[in-house]
Amino acid sequence: MNTRNVYIIGAGVSGLVAAIELEKAGYYPVILEAGDKIGGRIQTEEVEGFKLDQGFQVLLTAYPEAQHYLDFEALSLKIFQPGAVIFKPGDIFSVYDPLRKPLKMIPMVFSKVGTVLDKVRMYQLTKTLSVKRDEDIFSSTDMTTLEYLKKKGFSGKIIKNFFKPFFKGIFLEEELKTSSRMFEFIFKMFAIGNASIPEKGMQEIPRQLFSKLHNTKIQYNTHVDHIENTRIYLDSGDVITADDIIVATSPETVFNQLDLGPPAYHAVTNLYFSTEQSFVAKPVISLVPDEQFLVNNFVFLTDVSKSYSADGRALLSVSVIKDVSAVENLEKLVALELEALSGIRSAYFRHLKTYHIPKALPAVRDTKNWLPVQHTKVYDHVYLAGDHMLNGSLNAAMTSGRKAAEALIGAYVV
Ligand SMILES: Cc1cc2nc3c(=O)[nH]c(=O)nc-3n(C[C@H](O)[C@H](O)[C@H](O)COP(=O)(O)OP(=O)(O)OC[C@H]3O[C@@H](n4cnc5c(N)ncnc54)[C@H](O)[C@@H]3O)c2cc1C
Repeated sequence: MNTRNVYIIGAGVSGLVAAIELEKAGYYPVILEAGDKIGGRIQTEEVEGFKLDQGFQVLLTAYPEAQHYLDFEALSLKIFQPGAVIFKPGDIFSVYDPLRKPLKMIPMVFSKVGTVLDKVRMYQLTKTLSVKRDEDIFSSTDMTTLEYLKKKGFSGKIIKNFFKPFFKGIFLEEELKTSSRMFEFIFKMFAIGNASIPEKGMQEIPRQLFSKLHNTKIQYNTHVDHIENTRIYLDSGDVITADDIIVATSPETVFNQLDLGPPAYHAVTNLYFSTEQSFVAKPVISLVPDEQFLVNNFVFLTDVSKSYSADGRALLSVSVIKDVSAVENLEKLVALELEALSGIRSAYFRHLKTYHIPKALPAVRDTKNWLPVQHTKVYDHVYLAGDHMLNGSLNAAMTSGRKAAEALIGAYVV
């Protein structure tokens, strides 16, 4: 047993993973969490018997850290069909597995998405990235994803019809400015694994991590105002003197004294509707390439996991990447767009709830996937974790939590 007073700030995925590692080394950490539950940005809310993930998120089964920390079987992962259905007004077509078996795509269908050369290039990219080591991906020349796709010779047609809506829905930004390294990593994850959700909602992921903790105490509703050296100043006015601290959230929230510059985030608006039945009727992501639309992508979550609905009605999750802060009647406009895309009257889509998520993903300038343990150290006894250290993903959140814990533990190993 290690009697040092170790505090972790934040009970998101990175904080929970840090606690798991500290426990393994004999520590009894305390997590200070501003909210009233674990999970951070991964939350699932029950509304009228539906499970609403707060923001459409998926777990990529190829994430190396997820394979290490999660028991996929116990999560009862429900797998998305690879590929996408593309919705244009008056035209709907499926692109089967473009990131894994591009050559298998039926030429007639593919001709609606891209050119013959695109198909060959997609095949080459899949072949190269499936076996490219993560270290090599994250040390490749960095450019924006859009520049990368153009450099690889992809046509404007396939970029518009497939790459843009698909990766906008992942990066949560409209211009595909996200690093090409992140693009390669995510492309690889799709090429060698599957997109999935736990049967009972994304929140099962932090819950499973939490269930591995036996010697960690969590103090909820405990907002840290700031940290000075190893003193933690709470909003309540209380001050805690710690031996070591892991800050498992964005640093600007607690380091008043450091000049960290303004943090940047990617935002998303996620709307939920219920319907009597799904008009897609398969577990697949649907894309809307027409940029006049507010809707970028949508999915009937009940086509992926029936447990997202208590009574058999269908649950539709719609993602809007555009800034809609000044849009009035958003729910009505989105329902009208769904009508234009599906031919089903807008009144059929019963609005359940809308989540505006301004800080969904950190806009990371130096996207990477590994972290020398010493880089997690802010100063003596204080360490940093969180997806912002690497890239906006569950995999990165897990890596950062592990690395911060390793740095802390390593500081006492002689
Ligand atoms: C809409 C959306 C879609 C996403 N899609 C995907 C996806 O498809 N695939 C994927 O891999 N990843 C996705 N992500 C990213 C993934 O959810 C995050 O990378 C991950 O959850 C981040 O975990 P974290 O521990 O770094 O931070 P957080 O989850 O933000 O946890 C930080 C915790 O610290 C607490 N906290 C903050 N400040 C204080 C304070 N001052 N005092 C006390 N506590 C504090 C917060 O309440 C929170 O619980 C998505 C995220 C969102 C929001």
